[in-house]
Amino acid sequence: MATPKILVLGAGYGGLMTVKGLTRRLGASDAEITLVNQNPYHYFTTELHKPAAGTAHHDHARVNIASVINTNRVNFVVDRVTSINPSEKKVYLENNTFDYDHLVIGLGSAPETFGIKGLLENAFFIRNIDSVRMIREHMEYMFARYKNDPKEEYLTIVVGGAGFTGIEYIGELVDRLPELCREYDLPQEKLRIVNIEAAPTVLPGFDQALIDYAVEYLKGKGVEFYLGVPIEECTKDGVVLKGGEEIKSSTVVWTGGVRGNKLVEESGIETMRGRVKVDENLRAPGHDNIYVLGDSSLVIPKDGERPYPPTAQISTQQGQYLGKHLPQLMRGESVDAFQYAPKGTVASLGNRVAIGVVGSKKLFGGSASFMKKIIDIKWLFLLGGISLVLRKGKL
Ligand code: FAD
Ligand code: NAD
Repeated sequence: MATPKILVLGAGYGGLMTVKGLTRRLGASDAEITLVNQNPYHYFTTELHKPAAGTAHHDHARVNIASVINTNRVNFVVDRVTSINPSEKKVYLENNTFDYDHLVIGLGSAPETFGIKGLLENAFFIRNIDSVRMIREHMEYMFARYKNDPKEEYLTIVVGGAGFTGIEYIGELVDRLPELCREYDLPQEKLRIVNIEAAPTVLPGFDQALIDYAVEYLKGKGVEFYLGVPIEECTKDGVVLKGGEEIKSSTVVWTGGVRGNKLVEESGIETMRGRVKVDENLRAPGHDNIYVLGDSSLVIPKDGERPYPPTAQISTQQGQYLGKHLPQLMRGESVDAFQYAPKGTVASLGNRVAIGVVGSKKLFGGSASFMKKIIDIKWLFLLGGISLVLRKGKL
């Protein structure tokens, strides 16, 4: 019998954990494993708000994939997936085509724009290394322009959405801006960070005491909040809010949410808002040999109605699950259902302050920040052991 072919798409949190688990459990005669990713590196999405603000270099948020996987066992292909065809059991790349017996899709997410006019054309997105490098360089260029042509919009940064991404990015900005003011000879009182949130509160659904702490801290640093009012349009001059108010800004960063990678819905696999409601073994409905994990998947808790939010935490656990159980599933054996074990949520507000809930304990300020750094280090350890922690970890 021919050696089964496992094709893993995307080297994010889910994809990499899958591959690392499979290489530990399957010998060369058990399966041929191919991993496809559009870059030779993996980026730590959970740290992208730092290079976006310029508080860390983008190299701190990425690692060479070949250095953390066993390339003797995995055929690692750097290429972009252009389409997935389940009926042919083929995946098309820009420069190649692969067929598979078992497919694991971990292609992450895309920005959710809710059809808001002008967003895709005029806003920036905290998505990957290329997009955050552009945000930082654009922001700094606008500051440089102000010295030559003092328009207020050059110094106004609008952040659309006050979910965890928006709030963590703003936390980095408040750390970074005093330094940039010195560098660009700018009056700090002229700088504006404006956060606009459609819901009545920032971090909707999170613990109220932690929300209050974050808002008070960020307001104390000069951040302006517009709550309960959605952005309805984004233009080259700024944003227009419901009711017609316009806020002029040369730098609009959209953090209003994510949806599944569009390649998945285009493949004909059934999706809900671009995400696949997977079965208890992370299989796509109606496809015994296709598994979906991470931001492109949707897992609904047994006793709940709303799906778990898309996080690195659940993506990692899904990857660990498939890395362990895919060999048995391939053989048609039954295995325990995937069960997500949430460990808590911690969000940074810059380098030294954070908020979070771990177990039943609420954490504020320095202790939460320390916990956030431990969580980031844990990912480095899972990925590349102690040597990666020593190279990239920061306390
Ligand atoms: P990703 O990690 O997004 O990886 C997808 C991979 O697929 C990437 O390598 C990408 O390049 C590749 N890819 C995409 N399209 C193609 C293609 N066409 N061809 C080839 N390759 C492709 N979650 C937490 O749990 N904790 C946090 O602290 C946290 N902080 C965050 C901070 C920020 C600023 C952001 C934006 C998100 C944060 N999240 C956090 C959410 C978390 O990062 C995501 O849920 C997680 O990255 C999803 O993992 P994934 O494996 O689905 O995909
Ligand atoms: P999100 O969906 O969590 O938040 C988006 C926010 O934008 C919401 O509060 C929403 O009300 C708001 N919004 C939507 N439309 C709007 C409009 N027209 N105008 C103004 N506001 C609008 O998205 P996110 O923050 O990008 O997070 C994505 C996922 O990543 C989530 O699951 C989150 O939990 C996870 N994440 C986790 C962490 C962490 O654990 N530290 C950090 C970042 C992201």
